[in-house]
Amino acid sequence: MRKVKIRKEEFEEKVKKEYAARKKRKSHPDGIFEKGNRWFPSDDEKCDCCKEIRWPSWNYPFSLMVHCRTKKHVRNLFLKDHEIVEEDAQKKEFGKKVFLASICTSIKRPVVLYPTGLED
Ligand SMILES: [Zn+2]
Repeated sequence: MRKVKIRKEEFEEKVKKEYAARKKRKSHPDGIFEKGNRWFPSDDEKCDCCKEIRWPSWNYPFSLMVHCRTKKHVRNLFLKDHEIVEEDAQKKEFGKKVFLASICTSIKRPVVLYPTGLED
């Protein structure tokens, strides 16, 4: 599956919205109820973080259901089909290179650049 590229702020916003919806029971994690009322997430819903969770049992039938409503899980779930692009960081880096290049051409002789001295 191809991942959707998304900016970090947009991604965080999506996670926040889905987390809030799940908390208010407006949205539900994808899964099935089995005998004994235990709930299990579907393969699409399952993430690496779910492996650390207590397996649903008679005494704890919703252990994974509760986990799938956490922010940590929602974030991991969205990371499965989203790729965060640091667009702003790239722009900043590009801007710095243009700045350094213009210094080099205006001085017209070899210069030693000390990156730390040029930060901020
Ligand atoms: Zn999980």
